[in-house]
Amino acid sequence: MLEKRGYDLCIIGSGVAGALVASEAAREGKKVIVVEAGKKFSRSKRFEQIQHNQILGKDLWPWAVEGRDAYHDLSRQDLGYKYTLNDSRIKGVGGSTLHWGGMVNRFWPSDFNSAERWGLGEDWPIDYDTLEPYYCRAETEMGVSGTPNSTDPRRSQPHPMAGFPPRYGEAAWIPVAESLGISLDLTNHARNSEPYRGRPQCAAFAVCSACPIGARYSADFHIESTLATGNLDLLTDTVARRIDVDDRNQVRQVRATTLAGEEVVIEASSYVVAAHAIESARLLLLSDIGNQSDQLGRNLMEHWYAAAGGMVDDKVFPGRIGFTTLESRHWYESQERQDRGAIKIEFMDYRDPLAGGVSAGLSGSQLAEFDCEQFGHWVGASAEIEQLPNADSRVTLDENDTDMFGDPVPKIRFALSDVDRRTHDRAHEVLQLLLDARGCRDVKVTMNFARAHHHMGTCRMSQDPDSGVVDPDCKVHGIDNLYLAGSSVFPTGGAHQPTLTIAALALRLADHLR
Ligand SMILES: Cc1cc2nc3c(=O)[nH]c(=O)nc-3n(C[C@H](O)[C@H](O)[C@H](O)COP(=O)(O)OP(=O)(O)OC[C@H]3O[C@@H](n4cnc5c(N)ncnc54)[C@H](O)[C@@H]3O)c2cc1C
Ligand code: SF4
Repeated sequence: MLEKRGYDLCIIGSGVAGALVASEAAREGKKVIVVEAGKKFSRSKRFEQIQHNQILGKDLWPWAVEGRDAYHDLSRQDLGYKYTLNDSRIKGVGGSTLHWGGMVNRFWPSDFNSAERWGLGEDWPIDYDTLEPYYCRAETEMGVSGTPNSTDPRRSQPHPMAGFPPRYGEAAWIPVAESLGISLDLTNHARNSEPYRGRPQCAAFAVCSACPIGARYSADFHIESTLATGNLDLLTDTVARRIDVDDRNQVRQVRATTLAGEEVVIEASSYVVAAHAIESARLLLLSDIGNQSDQLGRNLMEHWYAAAGGMVDDKVFPGRIGFTTLESRHWYESQERQDRGAIKIEFMDYRDPLAGGVSAGLSGSQLAEFDCEQFGHWVGASAEIEQLPNADSRVTLDENDTDMFGDPVPKIRFALSDVDRRTHDRAHEVLQLLLDARGCRDVKVTMNFARAHHHMGTCRMSQDPDSGVVDPDCKVHGIDNLYLAGSSVFPTGGAHQPTLTIAALALRLADHLR
């Protein structure tokens, strides 16, 4: 058995949540240990990732470990398809940012009090103003290129880098929006519009699922710089399996096992679980802690995508860069919100219709003709949709199935409510309106609740120990030295991408642990 004792801080998970807490603590001289279930991927793997995804068209992330990452999904009854988890959360040094989209938004003030404002969802015990200074720090740490938009919430500092201009094909939406009287906003990105903190400027390869040069932020950069302080001990390929609490409500130790089968015991003064929404809840359930409110594992949320595309006569010259540059928050807040969740619109150009032709059974000259006819004429829009917290949408332990260590695997169910279905229907109406106004023909609208890969909820933050899992400082109710970092603590998820809020909360937690 490997014994690791005498640390100030033990962090479980090296995604952006864990990496930022580790980085802040190590910089001020604390002795930190990070336990990471996955391995360190070399940057050269990013080319293989691009090949796998862009060229082979396979699942987004090819390196899940079956015995470690097993799960059971019950979402089909609600979503109409099996929710495949392992291309939606990444286990490795840097976590899910190893292949995220890099779009970053602050939550809006109304995301923190939607129950008070519209009678739907749950109010957070903290508000936007509490988090605002940490949003600024999160933008600085990750490196955010952003443009001040008319609909932005109050900000006390400018973005660290200038934002990206709209792509050619997306700029064609500007007169359409004017004709409809709706606002458009430039999208903020955790990718460099200029060289930043040793990482290069975006060089526009259009393969952003895995930026080969590191212009897009990923949390392994923070782990690397933290290792350089000499204050971080990083255990990779090591799965935390139990958190042991003594009779004084203090965490005594974490027990883990390496993929090679060696037992590890870790002792520290404080502990942070940053294993993302599903595995954080699972670890607490396995350890039988934090569930006095019966809220642990509940309120699992996603952002659902609705998408629509169609043909236009003009040429959009797609694909020069691989990320979205324009969005509309026009449908985010309105009186309609008493009946539905938030909706954020994003615009797309389509790079290559070849895959569509192949799947339609075309080949040879027919395929070439199809490609020539369609290329550069497809445009699309998608809606990111808020899922409201729902007690039946949850993570539990599957007593009938175990992982490679004999522990019950997580059983997940994304359950939808009538409000979620109304939000989705409204999003389709909005997309149809937009594509009609753009003059699109052959419009195709996806009907299902597509995934945005954003897992939130399961360990929600609450003032009252009877209605949540962690307190407003992210400390597990009733346990003195155990904290959670990540979107597991979100009481609601809004329709803005979650990771900037994850980073802001992690930096706030790091301050609390000083
Ligand atoms: C394809 C895709 C696109 C995305 N695009 C965007 C986007 O554009 N904008 C945005 O804001 N968000 C996006 N996201 C979501 C974003 O990646 C996540 O919100 C964020 O990375 C979560 O960070 P985290 O640190 O909380 O968790 P993670 O990054 O998932 O890290 C958790 C870590 O904990 C480790 N772990 C888990 N269990 C254990 C255990 N028992 N013991 C030890 N280690 C453990 C895991 O191996 C993992 O490395 C996207 C995600 C995906 C998959
Ligand atoms: S366009 Fe290229 S350089 Fe820029 S973020 Fe995407 S992959 Fe990286």
